[in-house]
Amino acid sequence: MAVFASPSFDNHEKVLFANDADTGLCAIIAIHNTNRGPGVGGCRMWPYETDAAALEDALRLSRGMTYKSALANLPLGGGKSVMIGDPRHEKTPELLRAMGRIVDSLGGRYVVAEDVGTTVQDMDIINETTQHVACTSEGSGNPSPYTARGVFHGIRAAVAHGMQRNTDLEGVSVAIQGLGQVGYSLAGYLHAQGVKLVVSDIHQDPIDRAADEFGATPIAADDIYGADVDVFAPCALGAIINDHTVPQLRARIVAGSANNQLAENRHGAALAKRGVLYAPDYVINAGGIIEVAYGAKAGRDEAKLDQHVEGIYGTLTDIFGRATAESLPTNVVADRMAEERFQTAPH
Ligand code: NAD
Repeated sequence: MAVFASPSFDNHEKVLFANDADTGLCAIIAIHNTNRGPGVGGCRMWPYETDAAALEDALRLSRGMTYKSALANLPLGGGKSVMIGDPRHEKTPELLRAMGRIVDSLGGRYVVAEDVGTTVQDMDIINETTQHVACTSEGSGNPSPYTARGVFHGIRAAVAHGMQRNTDLEGVSVAIQGLGQVGYSLAGYLHAQGVKLVVSDIHQDPIDRAADEFGATPIAADDIYGADVDVFAPCALGAIINDHTVPQLRARIVAGSANNQLAENRHGAALAKRGVLYAPDYVINAGGIIEVAYGAKAGRDEAKLDQHVEGIYGTLTDIFGRATAESLPTNVVADRMAEERFQTAPH
């Protein structure tokens, strides 16, 4: 298995392979860049088919966190960890405590948080063996509502730029793919502004609730790409902007919370060529990491936090403006802006 030659290796500062024989823990922690501060990022638990796939995820996701935190103007770097295993059957308190000890061995250079396959309760257990943990129940908790709020502001910015409207969303139509923690909360914000919602999920229950609560129109999961709406908001899976889906899109804007929406970087250019305005995923979905950066709920400045999350509007507006001025895809502009920030930061 190649590490330095892996396509996802990007001058990462540190990659730690950890094994705990007593608990069966096999984990990888990747720290991409700490120029702006400690590498903060979630711990994903997933039954990866190969070690190489787990490494690939850790490398790619930790790099993404560096870019996300830099563009969100946070004093944080990028890190991410993966635990190899099925979270439904193999996650035990002992395993989580072992993970905490490994995180602790890095002395704060990596701060662990929740992610796919881990929860706020898991972070509480990890907190028994390390202080370098975010998203505990006594700390900042579940970041999803802030992620949704940030996506809401991002959609406002995209509509203002892409549809030449001011920030009013009345009558705009948005198709939300995935009514989970972020998607459902986003639906509430949009509905309150008079947005017409089209929704899909692989489970019927949240669809029925959204239809009742927000008057949302359900659409079959495979049909959402071709929905006749203004905005497509992917809030479920990655890689959904690909060779198969780009030709189907009727929305003029893609703006949602899912990580790694572009199957490949070139799909950003494919969207631009089609006249679709893309809100780069790691910019629009930064509300959660912004909340993490403000620390424990008790005693923090909520007004300042809300203002910071609302800043996603301005960051996206800058990216859209620069992309138009320089005739570049928005994802390319976002990457360049992030690199300007973290590469020049003092080490
Ligand atoms: P979640 O697991 O709560 O919700 C995902 C939803 O998508 C679920 O309801 C699931 O049933 C649905 N889904 C799965 N496959 C689908 C499909 N093919 N079509 C339609 N729906 C489908 O996850 P979440 O926390 O809401 O996160 C959503 C996305 O946003 C993920 O990509 C996540 O990585 C990203 N994200 C989340 C946060 C956060 O704070 N939670 C922060 C940044 C990025």
